[in-house]
Amino acid sequence: LFSGRVDFLLSAPQLKFLPDPDVPEIAFCGRSNVGKSSLLNALTLRKNIARASVTPGRTQELNFFEVGEPTRFRLVDMPGYGFAKAPPKVVEKWKALVKSYLRGRQVLARTLVLVDSRHGLKDVDREMMKMLDEAAVVYRVVMTKADKVKKSELDKTVAKVAEEAKKHVAAFPEIHVTSSEKGMGIAELRAAILEDALG
Ligand code: GDP
Repeated sequence: LFSGRVDFLLSAPQLKFLPDPDVPEIAFCGRSNVGKSSLLNALTLRKNIARASVTPGRTQELNFFEVGEPTRFRLVDMPGYGFAKAPPKVVEKWKALVKSYLRGRQVLARTLVLVDSRHGLKDVDREMMKMLDEAAVVYRVVMTKADKVKKSELDKTVAKVAEEAKKHVAAFPEIHVTSSEKGMGIAELRAAILEDALG
């Protein structure tokens, strides 16, 4: 499916612009610069599928991509968070949009929380995980840019993330280790997404 039709559908600045909830959705979130666009490109075997979401003004919107012909599921590129010096008003608007999407979206099958392998969990990631828990949304943790750290360091960071995630026993998230650059873990993540979306 990922090598077939993947099309940008729309960008939703507010809930009223969401597409009809007629197929499952898989949402991607993470700190700005975590490697979200690169991961979306790697998963969909494209060079710049996530380009629409980096055009100015669209970075604070929910971006929807359709997969399959006819559409079988959607990938949702959520706005990056933790951006330096974002005005409080922008942050508040982001939180309101994301929270209401997470709480109200019946077709949301799974959320992927991207975490930079070099940095591990930051407070904004913890806040995001808390939001997901409160909205009772199940998620996977995807470690990105794994090629940038030594194996020993990577193992330590993953263990730490797992340790913290354990606190959320309600739904212990599976942790995926990936590198979009080297293709590491991408096929496995694709399989997991298909399973989440289509069962
Ligand atoms: P986004 O802001 O979350 O969409 O992040 P991008 O996908 O634009 O990536 C941010 C930076 O990290 C870019 O310079 C990418 O080239 C780099 N990057 C992303 N994924 C990887 C990866 O797997 N390995 C390495 N070495 N760099 C990566």
